[in-house]
Amino acid sequence: MLELTRDQMRALGHTMVEMMIEHFAGLRDKPVNVTGSRAALASLIDAPPPERGRPAGDVLDLLDKAVFSSIGHVDHPRFFAFVPSPNNFVSAMAEALAAAHNVFAGSWLEGSGPAQLELTTIDWLRQFCGLPEGAAGLFVSGGSMANLTALVVARAAKLADRPEGATIYCSDQVHSSVERGLRVLGFARGQVRKLASDENFRLSVDALARQIAADRAAGLRPFCVVANAGTTNTGAVDPLGELADLCRRQDLWLHADGAYGAAAVLCGRGRALLQGIGRVDSLALDPHKWLFQPYECGCLLVRDGALLERTFRILPDYLKDIHEGEDEVNFCDRGIQLTRNFRALKLWLSIQIFGLEAFRRAVERGFEVAEAVERLLRARERFEIVTPAQLGILTFRYQPETGDTDLFNAALARRIAEDGYLMLSTTMLRGRTVLRMCTINPRTTDEEIAGVVERIEALAAGLASE
Ligand SMILES: *Cc1c(COP(=O)(O)O)cnc(C)c1O
Repeated sequence: MLELTRDQMRALGHTMVEMMIEHFAGLRDKPVNVTGSRAALASLIDAPPPERGRPAGDVLDLLDKAVFSSIGHVDHPRFFAFVPSPNNFVSAMAEALAAAHNVFAGSWLEGSGPAQLELTTIDWLRQFCGLPEGAAGLFVSGGSMANLTALVVARAAKLADRPEGATIYCSDQVHSSVERGLRVLGFARGQVRKLASDENFRLSVDALARQIAADRAAGLRPFCVVANAGTTNTGAVDPLGELADLCRRQDLWLHADGAYGAAAVLCGRGRALLQGIGRVDSLALDPHKWLFQPYECGCLLVRDGALLERTFRILPDYLKDIHEGEDEVNFCDRGIQLTRNFRALKLWLSIQIFGLEAFRRAVERGFEVAEAVERLLRARERFEIVTPAQLGILTFRYQPETGDTDLFNAALARRIAEDGYLMLSTTMLRGRTVLRMCTINPRTTDEEIAGVVERIEALAAGLASE
């Protein structure tokens, strides 16, 4: 039942691999983003499940025409919106392998080889980030889940799980997933102290210290600081070393949200910007962003690794069999999921096959592209650089001769999206609408950088003349 012969599997597999090859090899020539309308897509896709199986070729054609042709290519070399995800072929193949073997990565008993490979890969990330040997971690779905999981550990470690009167600190540049995580954990909005960031969009250590003192004086229970290790808005990095000093003095948990930026530690420039990252209590990172992995692949590292099991381990009767050897690791004891897929494989396999040096170069290229775009924009009259290239992120505005600059730039972003040659996004900085480019795709060429800037200028000039 539900089986194919070897030949059928081979034929289907070959067709699918060809589709993947076409995706990777032909991507540059496709529009960056295609968003279909609900009505059009429903008319193509909406149908009852067939009672009898259909020829695979027909179904794959439908996928090609209606589904995979209506996506934003976050791995396109001219996709600079939000946070790109410059996927790679090796990792995509790894996903297929892991799914085929249907690895249960929750227990040693059912997945000892995969658990060891996850331990090894997590330890690579630990070493990249300079955390000590006792640190531990696990792969999760993404940065949101890594942040949430970290906050659960922080709450257990510092509050004995009693959230009453507890306060948590971050800057106004904190990622929404941190706020959502706190909401999930039952913290009221009033318990989250979102402090105004300084002129460089960084958390001010003095303002933080004052707020903590005021809260202690008011009988509240400060317990955690969430630092940005690369904000999504501008790539700003909070002063991690100073925050680590403060948190140690004040007995607070220091979590760093490095979902966007932490991977930059792989190259020298990133390491310099992320100084102090090895001193945090917990760190979220997202290999499905700047480590070139397909979704989903996030990671959490915790300095005192034993805290993970202290926080999450529960031993029900029906799982007694899995706890045998002392040194066996059951990843279900380290986080929220029991059944988990084998996310470590794709990162491990791609590092094995491409080599770490290629990853370092690929990360560094992200810095270079943002800097190159900045240089070209600075050479043009009507562009104002709002925040310079930082950790692969650049924000800027076009100054029209007349009219509202905010509305103009929002309209320009829409115009750029319709045009389809590149995609960027907007954000708000100090109440102003800015254009934002995140340039972490290592496959963006120098010609494309020039082409992108010319296109933005031409579209802006066109819009301004209307
Ligand atoms: C993307 C991002 C997140 C959320 O990560 P997901 O993988 O989307 O869940 C959290 N923090 C920062 C800084 C991010 O850039």
